[in-house]
Amino acid sequence: MRKIEVGILGATGMVGQRFVSLLEHHPWFEVAWLAASERSAGRTYAEACNWRLREPLPKTARELPVEECKPGKAPQLVFASLDSKVAGEVEKEFAHAGHVVVSNSSNHRMDPDVPLLIPEVNPEHLALVRVQKHERKWKGMIVTNPNCTTVGLVMSLAPLEKTFGLEKVMMTSMQAVSGAGYPGLPVLDIIGNVIPFIGGEEEKVERETRKLLGKFVDGHVLMGDFAVSAHCNRVLVEDGHTESISVSLRTKATVEDLIEAWRKFHARPQELHLPSAPKHPIIVREERDRPQPKFDVWTENGMATVVGRVRPCPVLQFKYTALSHNTIRGAAGAALLNAELMKAEGYLD
Ligand code: NAP
Repeated sequence: MRKIEVGILGATGMVGQRFVSLLEHHPWFEVAWLAASERSAGRTYAEACNWRLREPLPKTARELPVEECKPGKAPQLVFASLDSKVAGEVEKEFAHAGHVVVSNSSNHRMDPDVPLLIPEVNPEHLALVRVQKHERKWKGMIVTNPNCTTVGLVMSLAPLEKTFGLEKVMMTSMQAVSGAGYPGLPVLDIIGNVIPFIGGEEEKVERETRKLLGKFVDGHVLMGDFAVSAHCNRVLVEDGHTESISVSLRTKATVEDLIEAWRKFHARPQELHLPSAPKHPIIVREERDRPQPKFDVWTENGMATVVGRVRPCPVLQFKYTALSHNTIRGAAGAALLNAELMKAEGYLD
């Protein structure tokens, strides 16, 4: 199969670098075009980008020129990881010009005609792009993935919602510093500290969770019928968002039932053998002190959600811990899996 050329908007940032790295040996896609702000435009990627990943900057991207974020020369498929201050307008401009924009940014996630997608959870929501193209008269489209904190929560909730129904969800996060982009927080603000505020994050988690677990009926998403409350905190961890979650379910269940629902969870990406799909989307750890970001964040190449410590909750019914890699499964890996699903389902033809 000839590889599909792709572009990256925001290629120099934390998530953009993850895209470049994950796409280096991708069997279906290859990076052909990179763009960032006018500060970076006109330089080669190696000059413009302050490469912060442990793996080396791929040779194939090193000498590519960084362009301005203007449609025209970009390939049809573009991954987007732009600063949210500019992402909204730039993404619309690209979709209008005929590009398929697979975005990480929050700007369009809650638009009623834009799919907010986790391929294991709500692949049927992808059909919203037909409504989007019709209503906006775009030749292209925008598809989004959730916030990096939402994704681990929703991956762990999806089998519970499907098997038992959800009534109430409480989530307290301990979020990695890489979630704030590069260079991120000043070291004196975060070292030896926990910051109990991340602007807009709690609201994003609460509304995105209900959209992702909502039903797709007659071209609309009906928001999930359960309550979600999120407390979001920044902690001094490099990668990996850890979440303490409590849930009330609509039908009777035991701790063993929850574990079985997670272990049995397989979905569309696994059936389709999508290249970035984890073999097991949810891994249950049985040790009493796992998951931990230090040991578990790279499970299934950073694409699995790791859960553990499931036990009864005296306030809601059950409580457990979930961990997910914020710049892989919560960002670049999520968008890549979205594009793979789109390719496999014929949305890129
Ligand atoms: P980042 O490291 O700050 O990178 C931002 C990117 O946007 C850079 O490539 C930057 O280019 C570009 N940019 C900034 N201002 C621009 C402008 N005026 N015009 C064009 N390009 C501009 O941020 P990040 O962490 O990669 O996050 C990128 C997006 O993904 C954000 O919307 C964020 O909310 C979302 N996201 C991040 C994570 C995460 O874990 N980090 C997870 C999920 C979603 P220059 O280098 O040229 O300035």
